[in-house]
Parts: sequence; C-alpha cells; structure tokens
Amino acid sequence: MSTPSAQAPMRLDVEGLDQHYGSAQVLRGVALSIEPGACLAVLGRNGAGKTTLLRCLSGLIPASSGRIAFDGAEVGPLSSDRRARAGLATVPQGREIFSDLTVAENLRVAARAHGLERTDAIDEAAALFPALRDLWHRPGGNLSGGQQQQLAIARALATRPRLLLLDEPTEGIQPSIVSAIEAVIAGLKGRITVLLVEQYLDFAIRLADSCVVLSRGQVVERGTRGEISHADLSRHIAV
Ligand code: ADP
Repeated sequence: MSTPSAQAPMRLDVEGLDQHYGSAQVLRGVALSIEPGACLAVLGRNGAGKTTLLRCLSGLIPASSGRIAFDGAEVGPLSSDRRARAGLATVPQGREIFSDLTVAENLRVAARAHGLERTDAIDEAAALFPALRDLWHRPGGNLSGGQQQQLAIARALATRPRLLLLDEPTEGIQPSIVSAIEAVIAGLKGRITVLLVEQYLDFAIRLADSCVVLSRGQVVERGTRGEISHADLSRHIAV
C-alpha cells in the first residue's frame, strides 16, 4: 500500500516524564522509545494517563520534568505547532474534525497548514480510505463516527507526518471500519513511526512491534510483541 509519507520516519525517545494536573501527579517517570518506522502500543485502563502522555508529546500541555526527543533532539521547549512542523501528527480521541467543513476541506486545511496544498498529499491520504471519496462534499459533522475517524486519520496523514499519535482509533467504531483502519495503520509500517493508544488489545497486538502498559501513570510492563503474553496484557487492562 502506498502511503503519503515523503520523509524518513522519526525516532521518538521519552525519559523520566512526569506530569501533574495541579497537585495531582498523572505521569510518573514514563520512559519509552520507538525506532523509526516501528509501531508502539500504549495500553492501560481508563485513567492510566495515556491521553495525558499524548498531550505531553504533542506539546499541548507541558511536562513537569523529563525529556522528549525527536530524532535525538530535545523538543521540550517547542510549541505544539513547532512539533507538528517537525513531523508530528495526532489523531485525538474526540477526532476534532471541523464539522462545518466538507471532507475535502478538512483535508485541504490540514495539508495547507503544512505547506502541502500543491502536492498530492491530499489525494494520497484520501486514497487510503476509499469511502471518503463518496463523502467528499459532505460536511464532517454529517458523517458517522466511523467515517469521522477515517477522516481524522486521513487528515493527519495529509500532513505527511513522520510520527503519528493515535488515541484509541477503534473506540465506538463498527468492525468493518476497524478493519479498514487496521489495514491503513499496518501499511504505514516502516514509513511512519506510530504510537498507538488502545484499549482493544487484539487490535493493538496485531499492529504493534512492542508495547508498554501504563498503570496510574507508570510503565508497569513493557516488551516486544513476542515477549509479553496476551494473558499478562489483558490482566493489566481488564477492568
Ligand atoms: P487515559 O487516557 O489513560 O484514560 P488520562 O490521561 O485521560 O487517562 O487521565 C489520567 C488521569 O488524569 C485521570 O485520573 C484523569 O482524571 C486525570 N485528568 C485528565 N485530564 C485532566 C485535566 N485536564 N485536569 C485534571 N485531571 C485530569
């Protein structure tokens, strides 16, 4: 499958990351690395700190301490905008597509923000989700949840990211669309580095080269796909 990535995938390193909301500590010394082009799953129950970790990585909230490095260079002082220009794209949990803009406009706005309006980045991203072509002139707000999720992923890919952060892309999505999303993420392997936050364990295991499990803001388990058993992972995730 061809993908919209034109640049080399990014290496991500996180060390000793702490984060607080007021006096409540939410992340505790989180450390992880993703090799360029690999997929890391971040697993954990609700409230474990997964979304907070993504928000720290994308620069939406400051970490209290610790180090985040893109290709070995510390990005702590960089705004979310600068991190996006360095090649990071996020598909947030609420999808956050522009509901008044059409599918085509949602993609164009994202690509334009990255100076890609005259490239084929939009067509390449849309081609990954053929269903979007039939919805091209529909307002984003009129799409189903699954269609919005496909649009949110296509929109992130239209920026030609080098690192893609996905926050629970399967949440509330019907199985046929989950399969389409899985095929697209699988096709990114080797081309775009992916950090996948998930609660749907089987989906994450099929895609990820390695995984970390967060519990109360701490990494309590980590390993490559073959190193950690399904039973161990589900024990950490089961409510
Ligand atoms: P997860 O994504 O694993 O479900 P979150 O990162 O959303 O976990 O939340 C981790 C913890 O931080 C939870 O206890 C949650 O209630 C708390 N939290 C999340 N966002 C905020 C916020 N904006 N202000 C205060 N506490 C928050």
